[in-house]
Amino acid sequence: MKSIYMDHSATTPVDREVFEAMVPYYTDIYGNSSSVHSQGQKAYRALEESREKVAALLGAKPNEIIFTSGGTEADNQAIITYLAKNPKKGNHIITSAIEHHAVLHTCEFLAQQGFELTVLPVNSYGEVEPDTLRDAIRPNTALVSIMHANNEIGTIEPIKELAAIAHEAGAVFHTDAVQTVGKIPVNVTELGVDLLSASAHKLYGPKGVGCLYVSKGVRIGSFMHGGGHERNLRAGTVNVPGVVGFAQAAEMAMQRLSSREAPLAGLAKRLTDGIFAAIPNTRLTGHPEKRLPGSVSVCFDYVEGESILLMLDNHGIMASSGSACASGSLDPSHVLLAIGLPHEAAHGSLRLTMGKDNTEEDVDYILKVLPPIIKNLRVMSPLGQ
Ligand SMILES: *Cc1c(COP(=O)(O)O)cnc(C)c1O
Repeated sequence: MKSIYMDHSATTPVDREVFEAMVPYYTDIYGNSSSVHSQGQKAYRALEESREKVAALLGAKPNEIIFTSGGTEADNQAIITYLAKNPKKGNHIITSAIEHHAVLHTCEFLAQQGFELTVLPVNSYGEVEPDTLRDAIRPNTALVSIMHANNEIGTIEPIKELAAIAHEAGAVFHTDAVQTVGKIPVNVTELGVDLLSASAHKLYGPKGVGCLYVSKGVRIGSFMHGGGHERNLRAGTVNVPGVVGFAQAAEMAMQRLSSREAPLAGLAKRLTDGIFAAIPNTRLTGHPEKRLPGSVSVCFDYVEGESILLMLDNHGIMASSGSACASGSLDPSHVLLAIGLPHEAAHGSLRLTMGKDNTEEDVDYILKVLPPIIKNLRVMSPLGQ
C-alpha cells in the first residue's frame, strides 16, 4: 500500500543528513559541553558552531539564541519569564484567539495569577488585524504574543506591523514562529520582534530541541533552577546531539529557501484546485494567498473530520483535522471557531500539510481517493441527507 505523509505541520521526519550529523555526538563526542576536558571542549565547540548556524537562519546574533527543549518551552519561557523579570512594564498581556496552546494556555495561566489578558479576535481568514491590536493596547501592556503562522489553517500574520504597534506603546513583542522557521524566510530584524520561538522537529530536525531568540537588551529569566547553562537562562545539561541536528536542519533549510524554487506552492494549488473541482460544499480555511507553502486546509460540510482521517489512513494517507484534538474531545478546534466557522462546518475539517518529499503523484493519488471518501461519508451521515 502507498504511504503518503501529509502532516508536516505536526512533525517532520529527521533528514538523513541531520541524523548522520547527530550520531557522532552520541557515540564519540559525548562530553558534557560544560566540562573542562577535551571531550567537553569538543562538545562545547559543536554547541557554539550550532548556535551560529541557527542564528544565521533567523538573522540573529549567536548570543541572542538560547537552546530549549522545543517550541513549547520557548513559548513558556518567553512569556512567563519576561513578565516576571520586568514587573514595572505593566500587568497586561495581549495574545490572539488562534495561538497554539503553548501560548494560549500560558497566557490563561498568567491570567489566573492576576495578569490582565486580552485575547484578540481574528478575521475570517485568521488574520489579526493591526487595528484590533491598536485598539486593545494600553499603557500597562507589557507583552504582545502573536504567532507568525498558524499551524492549523496556515495563515501568515502581519508580524512586522503588529510588532511596530506594540513597540509604539512600549510593549515587548513575542512571536511563535515554529511553523515558519525553515519554511519561509524569517528574519528577526526585518520582523522587528524581541522574542521568537522555533522548534527543530518542524524543519526536519529532531524532536525535543528548539530555541528562543532574545533580542539584545531584552531581559528574560531562567525557567528552571539549576546550573548556569545557556548564559544562566536555561539550566540543564545541553542536548548537544539535538542541537547539532537542529543546526544541520537549519543549514539545509537555508539552502532550500535560497534556491528560490517554490514546488510546494504549486503542489498545494494543484491539491486545493482538485479538491474544489471534485467535492461540492467545501470551504477553504485560512487565507487564500498569505499562507504557509504546502498547507491545504479545508472543511467539508456534513462530515466528521475524524472519519475522514480514518478512511484516508486506510488508503495510506496521513493527514490531520482541526476537529479532533489530542484530548480526544470532539469539539472543533479553537482556531476554526475563531475564524467564525459554524460548528457543523468546523467538524468536517481536514488539514494536509506537505513537505519537501511530497510529489505530484502523491497529490493525484489523494485526488483519486478523497472524493469518494467524502461522498460515502455524506451518504452515511444524517447531516448529509
Ligand atoms: C509544534 C508547535 C509548537 C510546539 O513545539 P514543540 O517543539 O513540539 O514543543 C508550538 N507552536 C506551534 C505553532 C507549533 O506548530
